Amino acid sequence: SREWHLVRRPSGWPVPEDFALREAPVAAPAEGRILVRNLYFSVDPYMRGRMNDVKSYTPPFQLDKPMDGGAVGEVIASDADGFAVGDHVVHGLGWREIADVPAKHAIKVDASLAPLSAYLGVLGMTGLTAYAGLFDVASFKEGDTVFVSGAAGAVGNQVGQMARLKGAARVIGSAGSDEKVKYLVEELGFDAAFNYKNGPVGKQLREAAPDGIDVYFDNVGGDHLEAAITSFNVGGRATICGMIAQYNATEPTPGPRNMALIIGKRLRLQGMLVNDHAALQPQFVSEVADWIGSGELKYNETVVGGVENGVEAFLGLLRGENTGKMLVSLSK
Ligand code: NDP
Repeated sequence: SREWHLVRRPSGWPVPEDFALREAPVAAPAEGRILVRNLYFSVDPYMRGRMNDVKSYTPPFQLDKPMDGGAVGEVIASDADGFAVGDHVVHGLGWREIADVPAKHAIKVDASLAPLSAYLGVLGMTGLTAYAGLFDVASFKEGDTVFVSGAAGAVGNQVGQMARLKGAARVIGSAGSDEKVKYLVEELGFDAAFNYKNGPVGKQLREAAPDGIDVYFDNVGGDHLEAAITSFNVGGRATICGMIAQYNATEPTPGPRNMALIIGKRLRLQGMLVNDHAALQPQFVSEVADWIGSGELKYNETVVGGVENGVEAFLGLLRGENTGKMLVSLSK
């Protein structure tokens, strides 16, 4: 079975030479373990942080060891109670064709309820991030005007649509291409959207939200966060979910220059980690499954085929080549 190893820690933007696809032996599973043929694995922005040798909320990838991350696949051998050959499971050993997974770290999923890929995106970690970040962390309420950056991405597009479904007064998104902007407004029902590459974010946000914003869901940081602080109404709330604009920076990047506005506007800026919100999972799945079933909530995936294209998919994600969730599919 082939698996991706990190062979050198990237400095700045990762390059293909930082990674190697290597062959690994496959053995029968030991007691309490299952062998899973991965059908999809996820590539995510947080993985860039794990390529650095720094302590963080997830441990760094080790050099010359397989990388890991979300994956969904089919059980092909089992020595664990409750798991049979043919079962589908979500687990944390992606970036490889066949995974030897401790059964206690695998969650069975139903391929008849949703396409398996959905369990890595809209019904999985990224969907829960959007749901928890908007409703728990930002304390969204009906009538709020919501701004989300990275709006055509996996988390961002769900945030915007969930806000609309729960009665936002206005939903505004930013993304990195005119095509994505069109998709947000014409397909996903955003009230306004802009391409952050077309002009200063602050000016474009003021034009899109002339009456200000109440909630900012931050996937980007930098100039987006500064623009949101300027556009916030009194009592505004930001969920600080990601700062992808700086993940490839080699030096610490400066913060917003307008932090003093936090005082007069009594703003709340709160960081979040999706791992803290597992208790919301049942409520999240039932509500989102209903919305998908009724067609009210849409989702998109950008699927790159073949384990050998895994690194390209990850680099493409950092470059913004995805609309919705970026996934790697592995054929049987
Ligand atoms: P996305 O699907 O949003 O993919 C990343 C997107 O980021 C790209 O498509 C690209 O779109 C955009 N991007 C890349 N570089 C820049 C830049 N310099 N400025 C602005 N946008 C940029 O990924 P996810 O939905 O998985 O993740 C979104 C954010 O949420 C990330 O910051 C991630 O780290 C964070 N996250 C945090 C979690 C938590 O628990 N805190 C959990 C999950 C995700 P474009 O074409 O628009 O530039």
